[in-house]
Amino acid sequence: MTIPGENRRAFLKKSAAATTFLAVADFAALAAGAASVNSGPAKAGSNGGLPWYRRTLRWGQTNIAEIDPQRYDIAWWREYWKRTQTQGVIINAAGIVAYYPSKFPLQYRASGLGGRDLFGELAQAAHGDGLAVVARMDSNRVHEDFYRAHPDWFARDADGEPYRNADLYVTCVNSPYYDEFIPSVLREIIERSHPEGFADNNWNGMERDRICYCENCRRKFHDLAGQPIPRAKNWDDPVYRQWIQWNYARRLEIWDLNNRTTREAGGPHCLWMGMNGGSITYASQHFRDLKAIWERSEFVMLDEQTRVDATGFQHNGEVGKLVHGALGWDKLVAESIAMYETPRSTFRLTAKSEPEVRLWMLEGIAGGIQPWWHLVSACDEDSRIYRTPGPVLRWHAENQAYLVNRRPIATVGLVWSQSNADFYGRDDLDELVELPRHGWTNALVRARIPHLPVHADHIARDADRFSTLILPNLAAMSASQVEAVKHFVSRGGSLIATGETSRCNEWGEPLADFALADLFGAHVVGRQPASTDAAARRAMLDTQHTYLRLTPELRARTDGPKAGTEPAVTGERHPVLKDFDETDILAFGGLLEPLRVDNGATVLATFIPPFPIAPPEDVWMREPRTNIPGLIVNETGGRGRVAFLPADFDRRYGRDHLPDRGNLLANLVRWAARDNFPLQIKGPGLVDSHLYQQKDKLILHLINLTNAGTWRAPVDELIPVGPMTVRVQLPAGIRGNCIQLLVSKRPAKVATKNGWAHFELPTILDHEVVVVG
Ligand SMILES: [Zn+2]
Repeated sequence: MTIPGENRRAFLKKSAAATTFLAVADFAALAAGAASVNSGPAKAGSNGGLPWYRRTLRWGQTNIAEIDPQRYDIAWWREYWKRTQTQGVIINAAGIVAYYPSKFPLQYRASGLGGRDLFGELAQAAHGDGLAVVARMDSNRVHEDFYRAHPDWFARDADGEPYRNADLYVTCVNSPYYDEFIPSVLREIIERSHPEGFADNNWNGMERDRICYCENCRRKFHDLAGQPIPRAKNWDDPVYRQWIQWNYARRLEIWDLNNRTTREAGGPHCLWMGMNGGSITYASQHFRDLKAIWERSEFVMLDEQTRVDATGFQHNGEVGKLVHGALGWDKLVAESIAMYETPRSTFRLTAKSEPEVRLWMLEGIAGGIQPWWHLVSACDEDSRIYRTPGPVLRWHAENQAYLVNRRPIATVGLVWSQSNADFYGRDDLDELVELPRHGWTNALVRARIPHLPVHADHIARDADRFSTLILPNLAAMSASQVEAVKHFVSRGGSLIATGETSRCNEWGEPLADFALADLFGAHVVGRQPASTDAAARRAMLDTQHTYLRLTPELRARTDGPKAGTEPAVTGERHPVLKDFDETDILAFGGLLEPLRVDNGATVLATFIPPFPIAPPEDVWMREPRTNIPGLIVNETGGRGRVAFLPADFDRRYGRDHLPDRGNLLANLVRWAARDNFPLQIKGPGLVDSHLYQQKDKLILHLINLTNAGTWRAPVDELIPVGPMTVRVQLPAGIRGNCIQLLVSKRPAKVATKNGWAHFELPTILDHEVVVVG
């Protein structure tokens, strides 16, 4: 379909006339309001000499459809950039489709482009308005004529057939396509249009599940390993694991090559950025070494467009902090956010519910992310889609001084590692590795406990800021990671570990005992880990009718004589079991194996093996008591407190949301951290909090996630909560005698006492940002 000779507005009017007049009216109102807003361009005026990637705080992207060259109304979009306070734009340049007349005949040009240089025109317009320009590429695949011209540049299966995605051919990362062709395209675009940088949408070549056997791959891998490329996936084969590592290393080579190319051709600030999400699962499946990438980056362009139900809006705040943990808090992270309907059902051309987009954006901003609206096609008949980003971005522009150049405050570190996802998680990494982490995040958000993600290799670097570390089923650990944890606890830090933590070496191979066994006060006696044993994996992943028995038991026995293996009843429960006084059992669902428990360690819960769930007549515990531990606490040796939870309540909370599990996780953190947190919030609802220090100010984000759609997208109505009572600890140098509310703009009072500031927020609709000075 093409619409020759029509500009965007005419097309809209014609389309709207056939359906509804409302779209045109909305659109006209939006356009009329455009001129009144000053964009505060990224390049203009005083910027302290900072490069574009340190001062461009709001981004926008119209992902150009192939039909768009005939209908792209540049003047309208310039007004839209102003209206949304956009300071940088991502513009399609090349890759699958080129939007400029390239000198390389094999670069497929947009069918309606003619001789037009749409990319160049847009780059010039954006530069004229003082905006930063990032040229968008997609180097993953090309059209058939390219494949015919260079058949040796393409990924091939074991039979020598080229890999395809639909009718396009997948390029091989080990071919001259990446070593020569892409760099020459980058140089051409820089010479023609001088973009500030590049973003490549799908830059990593083939994903992990498809092995390339092209000549280039076969030769290069043999040169490295002295072995042929593995015929199939086999996580227990050292050659397969070497192939995994080799693939990661090649992606980093490409990252560095492209950055050398763009800097040589475009100057030291001309950056190349591959787009990455915040999902460790996705990164593992696509050989994207997130820590290594973020550590070598000056600026991150994040592709994490939308909420999914299981991880909630809070995931976006978590992702911002995950990236900054490796990137540094002095640098910026921009995130592409979908204005269209996604992800459960994707409709690229209709507007997503505005509150749904808004909460995702606000969580990102709270996590240190710079917002970036993302639209597909330059001409949308659902003009509501254009209304969505403006309010948040205009608020962002008004308050930007408080939203960057700050450091998070949190005393609890949630440890992650991508190699645990690779070599322990293997083909079940979402369940085995990501869900435990998400379960913890959800429990900590719900309990309003400030926390930060910390990479396992950064434990030693960051140890001083944390009182407590959480290892969520961190089974595959390197020797240096184990040593860092031991050192942390030996210096008085507290530790919570779950599932099979430290059960394996860094390749996911079983160790004779937990590497952290002495800290846990518990030792392996039986089962193999889930990484190498199918039965163990099923036992982890399935849900069975099992329970944990809390010890000591507080309720009268109703099941006959004592079994003889139960712990002695003391009549008083450990603080970790606070609020469970009316029950002796908790729903569990997994299977547990015996462990040998050290003298001095205390077992707080034991395993009740499975029994029938139906018919009801059959529902009675065949073995009401065992001595198989589900939860152990250990305070021996005058070090930090240690809790080990073999029962994977974190993973099961992430999946099933049973409140007991979240409460037990929160209790564990409160006990481990000795209730010593820098922030206390009282009031109803699910409210996520993010606390920062910026010189002599504290900045507190509160996001109201209390909603009918909290666990099932989309949210379509915001529901206020309040009042909220907040206490925040004042670091040295912050007086705490003045307070400002950046969202409601209401006057507010603050009181200080014993180094804490106290204040009340009558109501929070979507979010509030409190500045305490
Ligand atoms: Zn190949």
